[in-house]
Amino acid sequence: MSVRVRYAPSPTGLQHIGGVRTALFNYFFAKSSGGKFILRVEDTDRERYSDESLQDLYDTLSWLGIKWDEGPVVGGPYGPYIQSERTELYQKYAKELVEKGKAYYCYCSPERLESVRKEQIEKKSEYQGYDRHCANLTEEERAEYERKGIKPVIRLRVPTEGKTTFHDVLMGDITRRNRDISPDPILLKSDGFPTYHLANVIDDHLMGITHIMRAQEWIPSGPLHVLLYQAFGWDIPTYCHLPMVMGKDGQKLSKRHGSTSLRDFREKGYLPEAIINYVTLVGWSLDGSTEFFSREDLEKCFKLENIHKAPAVFDYKKLDWFNGYYIREKAEDELAVLVLPFLQKAGYISQSPDKDELDLVAKLVKPARERMKVLSDIVPLSAFVFEDVPVVQREMYIAKGADLEKTKKALSEGSSILLSGLKGGKEESAIEEELVELSKALELKVNGVFQPLRVAITNSTVSLPLFDSISLLGLEETEKRIRRAEKILEE
Ligand code: GLU
Ligand code: ZN
Repeated sequence: MSVRVRYAPSPTGLQHIGGVRTALFNYFFAKSSGGKFILRVEDTDRERYSDESLQDLYDTLSWLGIKWDEGPVVGGPYGPYIQSERTELYQKYAKELVEKGKAYYCYCSPERLESVRKEQIEKKSEYQGYDRHCANLTEEERAEYERKGIKPVIRLRVPTEGKTTFHDVLMGDITRRNRDISPDPILLKSDGFPTYHLANVIDDHLMGITHIMRAQEWIPSGPLHVLLYQAFGWDIPTYCHLPMVMGKDGQKLSKRHGSTSLRDFREKGYLPEAIINYVTLVGWSLDGSTEFFSREDLEKCFKLENIHKAPAVFDYKKLDWFNGYYIREKAEDELAVLVLPFLQKAGYISQSPDKDELDLVAKLVKPARERMKVLSDIVPLSAFVFEDVPVVQREMYIAKGADLEKTKKALSEGSSILLSGLKGGKEESAIEEELVELSKALELKVNGVFQPLRVAITNSTVSLPLFDSISLLGLEETEKRIRRAEKILEE
């Protein structure tokens, strides 16, 4: 039996990094076992649906380079793959369950259900939920409701006795008493739309899904789905619920911890290579030690058995570390293309850059590459080239262990070493040595000399290396900024 797995998101928001992890696990499992990866859009919740979310889903997968074998746009033998286009199918199967006596029509009004609920709360009754009022209507009673034009829902008949068990590859057997399963959940709403449970089970069956890999938060739906499979008389796929994605504090990953939508990560300048590599390691490992995996590697070596059971922590710092690595791995010309939109967004480079602008970007990339964690870091790192906002707080020029007087000397003597050296064509290493000598003479740490120079030239304490910065600005501009800084320190 060849593997068929699916990613089945509901387009009700931007793709969450946890959802991306689910997609990657499904995709890599399909690829590594020679199976098929199916994309299915579960858009039955029409109130929360948005076109933007659907577009975001497609953008996310294509940005990651994840191609689905069957699904929207590409089609396939079990289409359509968008649930809202399959409504008639769900209606047909729901009716089939009614005919088999496994489900029934319910005509209760929302008001009636609400008053039942209130009464249960008031009486603190042990039994909560739908009271099965319509579970055994006679044909006459039903006909009466129909005559009144009341549109029914279809509910599943959940057994009141016994237990339901399903097996999960990672979690083992999961058992629940049937009376703890929500009493007679709605399968088909009165507007003819299915609920998640019905559509999900029917589609997994009809699409020949062999393994259901989804987040652990879906475990509570498991027993109900198993009851549905049994009601239809269908085989139950293999379940594999994936470990939760947590923040460092052990709480479910949320905006409190940092970015969670893939779009956010993209906009900050994470690379798909880094996202794929790191996110796959959240709850999976090959051997506990190998860290670097390309998409192609994972397409070969991903194994279900290596998925962890325990909740996995999403470590933003570790992702940064991977991203920095992949940035340094890029060829300079590639990186120039990647940082360009960030510089454009900052207004530093025009929308249709000319050759001079492109040359400048190329020149920036080389020194910046070593210092970037995310592509957007290019903006603060290179701001001094595009806008000139001098640092006016004197303490910013003063390195740890230095004072104002020494800093003034360091700046004036240091800058003359620097400028005369560069004008005279001296080697950078020789100039650097002289600056180090100066720091010793002034009884300063090396940074006591470099910091005022750096702040004067780049208007910042964190920027590109000194000589690269000067070369980007030109000597004239550099000198101008140094003189200005000397004045600031004099004031
Ligand atoms: N549509 C569900 C979701 O949004 C799918 C859950 C499942 O994979 O069964 O996560
Ligand atoms: Zn009812």
